[in-house]
Amino acid sequence: MTAREAKLVASAAGAAGFPRAGLPEVAFLGRSNAGKSSLLNRLAGRRELARVSATPGKTRLVHFFEVRRGARTLLLVDLPGYGWARVSKAERAQWQKLVEGYLDGRAARRAAVLLQDLRRDVSDDELDLLAWLGERSIPALVALTKCDKLAPMRRAARARALAAAFELPRERVIATSAQTKLGIDELWKAIAALVS
Ligand code: GDP
Repeated sequence: MTAREAKLVASAAGAAGFPRAGLPEVAFLGRSNAGKSSLLNRLAGRRELARVSATPGKTRLVHFFEVRRGARTLLLVDLPGYGWARVSKAERAQWQKLVEGYLDGRAARRAAVLLQDLRRDVSDDELDLLAWLGERSIPALVALTKCDKLAPMRRAARARALAAAFELPRERVIATSAQTKLGIDELWKAIAALVS
C-alpha cells in the first residue's frame, strides 16, 4: 500500500445533500466514542480527515470521504454514531431516518463496517444493526477497535468471543488499532474484497 489520497467530498444532513453516486461506497457505523473517526483517519492515511470528536454523539451528518489506496478508490461513508442512553426519542428517530435512509436507499452502498470497542460487550444496538443489515443482504464486517488496549493473547481471545456473540465467521471480525495501525491493511483488503 503506497499511493494514498483522501478528501472529504460532502457532508450532508439528508439525502438531498448526498453526492452524486459513482464510486462504490462503504458505510461506517458505530456507537459514539467507538473510535470511528480515528479508524477512518487511519484508513485514509490522514490525521485529521475525520475529526476525532471530544463530544460524543454531537454530529448528525453523513460524511463522504473519497479514499484511494493502491489501485482502488472508494467512498468511505461516516454515518453518525449512536448510543441511546443519553439521547431523546426524537434524536433517536432522527438518527434512524438519516442512517436507514442512507443504507436502504443508496444504490452505490455496497457494504457496511460496524465498529465495536474490543473491551465492550456486544449490546442489542449492535445485534439489531447487524440483523437489520442481514435482512437487506448488505454485506457487513465488524472492526474491533482500540485493540492496543489489550495484550495480544487477551486480544485474540476477546476477538473470538465477540465473533461468537455477533454470530459472524472469524474472518468477518477484524482486530484493529488506529493508534498502532494494527489490522488497518487487513481491514482495507476485507472491505475491497466485499465491494469487488
Ligand atoms: P468516534 O466517536 O467513534 O468517532 O471515536 P473517536 O475516534 O473520536 O475516538 C474516541 C476516543 O477513543 C478518543 O479518545 C480516541 O483517542 C480513542 N481511540 C480511538 N481509537 C483508538 C485506538 O485505536 N487506540 C486507543 N488506545 N484509543 C483510541
